[in-house]
Amino acid sequence: MLREALLWSSENRFLAERLPRLDFVQRAVRRFMPGETPEDAMRAGAHLGKLGIASVLTLLGESATEPAAEVVEHYRRVLEEIHRQSLNMEISVKLTQLGVDAGEEVAASNLESIVSKAEELGLFVWIDIESSGYVDVTLDLYRHVRARYRKTGLCLQSYLYRTKEDLNSLLPLDPAIRLVKGAYAEGPDVAFPDKRDVDRNYFELAEKLLDGVPQVRAAFATHDARIIRRIKRAARARGLAKSDVEFQMLYGIEASNQKRLAREGYRVEVLISYGSAWFPWYMRRLAERPANLWFVLRKMVSP
Ligand SMILES: Cc1cc2nc3c(=O)[nH]c(=O)nc-3n(C[C@H](O)[C@H](O)[C@H](O)COP(=O)(O)OP(=O)(O)OC[C@H]3O[C@@H](n4cnc5c(N)ncnc54)[C@H](O)[C@@H]3O)c2cc1C
Repeated sequence: MLREALLWSSENRFLAERLPRLDFVQRAVRRFMPGETPEDAMRAGAHLGKLGIASVLTLLGESATEPAAEVVEHYRRVLEEIHRQSLNMEISVKLTQLGVDAGEEVAASNLESIVSKAEELGLFVWIDIESSGYVDVTLDLYRHVRARYRKTGLCLQSYLYRTKEDLNSLLPLDPAIRLVKGAYAEGPDVAFPDKRDVDRNYFELAEKLLDGVPQVRAAFATHDARIIRRIKRAARARGLAKSDVEFQMLYGIEASNQKRLAREGYRVEVLISYGSAWFPWYMRRLAERPANLWFVLRKMVSP
């Protein structure tokens, strides 16, 4: 119930306009977001870099909170800055920010403008996966860019019934896949309603990805300690080097595990979000773990 309420608020315009102005909300969000500017994100990423942890930067906002052309220019500048500072950093983009609602060709050309810049600089671009209505177009566009640009990856969600088939269809491309459980409110017609099925499917998909390593770049984006342990065991059983196995997590979540995995020799990458349109994203983070609400409530009474 609470999860549904939080996911509902994530899409509520009235709340999105008002809550972010409140001081205690801003203080609470800082735990998951080092700041609103790309400079804040890069500074946090540079710090993680010293601990042997890579980062991936993403500008918050979906359904085009700012014009797609500006988002493209923004990311091109961020890529230049990452390159100039020689940071161990990648970026992750959302097709709704790149104009996909105005047509697939619009998003294709915007995406290409970003990945071609990244290619020129030797940098890597991930494509986020959004709500289920966007999955077909996201896969199409990934296939399109992957044919020309090797340093591109796609996120897939284990809560969708269709993902197993999608993954099978992508494997011949030797793709880079970031596997997540999925963060949107989806109905039982498209997604497993029971979390145990989402977790079971996650591990089955993870095994499939591990079978493709090292041709496939397999990035397991989860904080789930039990799944991480199982993936480590499955990788060992396949004789894979730790450096061939990648775990990704969100900034500020399970930070000690991020450091431990990096010390053990796994590749670890942390997603750092920034931007002013953080409300829906933050509500989804709370929905993932309603216990975080206590953190917000504590911030209401203490700085
Ligand atoms: C790098 C990265 C990229 C992502 N990209 C996308 C994307 O493109 N599309 C998409 O739909 N989703 C994306 N997600 C979100 C993902 O779908 C999940 O919603 C999120 O990762 C939580 O699921 P989990 O695998 O950690 O497992 P869960 O089963 O939700 O959580 C397992 C455990 O992790 C810890 N945990 C999880 N979330 C939190 C939290 N918010 N605060 C504190 N502890 C927490 C808790 O200990 C929890 O018990 C991304 C996640 C990551 C890490």
